[in-house]
Amino acid sequence: DGDNLDRAREALRSTFGFDGFRGRQEDVVERVLNGQSTLAVMPTGAGKSLTYQLPAVMMPGTCIVISPLIALMHDQLRSARANGVRAATLTSADADWRETQDAFRAGELDLLYVAPERASQPGFRDMLGAAPLALFAVDEAHCVSEWGHDFRPDYRQLRPLMDAFPDVPRLALTATADRQTRADVMTQLGVPEDGLVLAGFDRPNIRYAITTRDNPVRQISDLMARQPGPGIVYAQTRRKVEELAEKLAAATGRAVRPYHAGLPAETRAANQATFVESEDMVIVATIAFGMGIDKPDVRFVAHVGVPKSIEGYYQETGRAGRDGDPSLATMFWGAADFATARQRLIELPEGRRSAERARLDALAGLVETPHCRRAVLLRHFGEDPDETCGNCDNCLDPPKVTDTTELARKLLSA
Ligand code: ADP
Ligand code: MG
Repeated sequence: DGDNLDRAREALRSTFGFDGFRGRQEDVVERVLNGQSTLAVMPTGAGKSLTYQLPAVMMPGTCIVISPLIALMHDQLRSARANGVRAATLTSADADWRETQDAFRAGELDLLYVAPERASQPGFRDMLGAAPLALFAVDEAHCVSEWGHDFRPDYRQLRPLMDAFPDVPRLALTATADRQTRADVMTQLGVPEDGLVLAGFDRPNIRYAITTRDNPVRQISDLMARQPGPGIVYAQTRRKVEELAEKLAAATGRAVRPYHAGLPAETRAANQATFVESEDMVIVATIAFGMGIDKPDVRFVAHVGVPKSIEGYYQETGRAGRDGDPSLATMFWGAADFATARQRLIELPEGRRSAERARLDALAGLVETPHCRRAVLLRHFGEDPDETCGNCDNCLDPPKVTDTTELARKLLSA
């Protein structure tokens, strides 16, 4: 009711220091405070964390947050604590288990972050029974679905855990919104059909362009010359990351650094930290880079090669322009990218193969469309956009029919 929302706005200001809710945060918070289980689908950077952190502070009992990455949990923990929120993590990387459990039992925690593996451990269920719970928040909830792009079997253990506490509302959160995944997540996690809050996915300040690749070093150097400021270049393999970083640095004279899981942890941390501070650095990375990084002024994201899916594309390009200023998202693709991706389908088990093929087909649809890219993207996420956006390559410079025939030929031969 209205009282709840007044209190929520007050806590938003006093605890988190924000003047108002963004997008549909308010709708999600209101549902949660009313005890209604919800699936919140909101783009990356929309502020999903707040939709459970705020109720966690307001409601009696602890909010259990399931989150797949320890590094992300520790980031969240730091920022929650900085706001005076009583939070803890229970992961294999923590030494203070006993203290955390004691604090939970004493009712001294607003938020308790755990990894999904923990959900299947009987000891954990017993522990949860020992103190009042406010809410289950399942972050990256698409991981529960084989239709999602990041299926994790441990997420399947969450339903039985939550079912053991039928009075505790559930909040599932994801930035992945295609209809099939959405429906599956709701079924798998027991969110009622009317429990969906779907936020706008449009990022109007991002200019989308998708073009064939001939000479990536030259193409990206050109892009960097046209678009000053920090940028992220995604490449497919560690080797390509290093090679491209070196060649781009030589070609442009700019600060260009690599980032991939094969680099020493200190190098990775240093390159990331420098990037976050920098006003003109370019980082060349595998898709391992970017999760949980909050840099508002990234001016361009370039893909050399195709991403894994439209969801991946949206998430990666979404790291550009979070400050709302004009930014570019440019993909440089080649027919071979699709050929390689199709080849990999063969190795997959039957069940996954059809989902992966559908994902690839959807991506090919985005790459080959002669129409508005934004419209294709937003329709994929269940929205009903305008026919043209005026801020993508196809709207700004409509392709000639011959070009699209050429594209179709390349895709078919792939
Ligand atoms: P998501 O999980 O949806 O990708 P986060 O929860 O990490 O997004 O939030 C992204 C950023 O938005 C964070 O820096 C957060 O502090 C900020 N934020 C969240 N809600 C608000 C708000 N109501 N007003 C201003 N900033 C907000
Ligand atoms: Mg998040």
